[in-house]
Amino acid sequence: MLAYTYIAHEKFGLLDKPKPALQDPCDAIVRVTLSSVCTSDLHIKHGSVPRAVPGVTVGHEMVGVVEEVGAAVTSVKPGDRVTVNVETFCGECFFCRRGYVNNCVDPDGGWALGCRIDGGQAEYVRVPHANQGLNLIPPTVSDEQALFVGDILATGFWAARISDITEDDTVLIIGAGPTGLCALLCVRLKRPKRIIVCEKSPERARFVRKRYPDVWVTSPDECEAFVLAHSEHGGADVVLEVAGTEDTFRMAWKCARPNATVTVVALYDTPQVLPLPDMYGKNLTFKTGGVDGCDCAEILRLIAEGKIDTTPLITHRFPLSEIEEAYRVFENRLDGVIKVAVEGRPL
Ligand SMILES: [Zn+2]
Ligand SMILES: [Zn+2]
Repeated sequence: MLAYTYIAHEKFGLLDKPKPALQDPCDAIVRVTLSSVCTSDLHIKHGSVPRAVPGVTVGHEMVGVVEEVGAAVTSVKPGDRVTVNVETFCGECFFCRRGYVNNCVDPDGGWALGCRIDGGQAEYVRVPHANQGLNLIPPTVSDEQALFVGDILATGFWAARISDITEDDTVLIIGAGPTGLCALLCVRLKRPKRIIVCEKSPERARFVRKRYPDVWVTSPDECEAFVLAHSEHGGADVVLEVAGTEDTFRMAWKCARPNATVTVVALYDTPQVLPLPDMYGKNLTFKTGGVDGCDCAEILRLIAEGKIDTTPLITHRFPLSEIEEAYRVFENRLDGVIKVAVEGRPL
């Protein structure tokens, strides 16, 4: 089968590999119908994910059809359409039982697919702990509608959930990349009084204005003044930092009002500084954490009910045989790309 592979530093390639087989009673084999490319894949390519194993098939955002299941798999059966969770988790350890599946202590726990074990930019993928890692796609939900459930949409949903947003709040979201947009969709479900998005790319700012006219958009240069002018208590009640630069980290706490919650979703290349003397008396609550994919069933229900729609984020489509081109367009942000969909193996 075709499998897009992390060959070496700065080198990915489409290789011919054997179709994966069941290795454990809890495994499932999924025929990948659609996958996507994530910024984390680029981090592997450029060497900033040291635990990524050369030779591994990359890709951790995918949907497909169950092909085969191990004897202990009871939640899905061959023929079921499923989303695949970016995280592998046992469902039984201290962290899993509390919903912190990202911190699962299983040897395969956490982000393993497409990093430490073969992932889904391929025709087939083996999913360990399939009872936990696969969710049934409702019949009325398309593959494209479900594509981001297991990764960036789970991230946005988690970020909105831990931010404790109320209907009186002004919420600032910094960054309108794919994950920022997913966070925006999930924040809207909380019906805060006002949502402000800060985005530096004019193209992405336009996308937000056009698609979500109820959302206010500002740029990094104007953000602090804009938020101050449009909030009642000297800043945003809740800030979600989804951009991941030194400037946006600083902006996040500066734009927050006293006693606000700042949720840091972004992944940084370098450590960030909390200048506590400057912040003294501001009494901020910081929440951190990447994806915690424990709400996929609920997210799929919200999609089926028409409350979340990430399909406008899919701006480009490619067959698996042209995945090099999909990467080129995504990585270089060509042609207004937000997310690409890579078509896997047809029936
Ligand atoms: Zn990802
Ligand atoms: Zn666990």
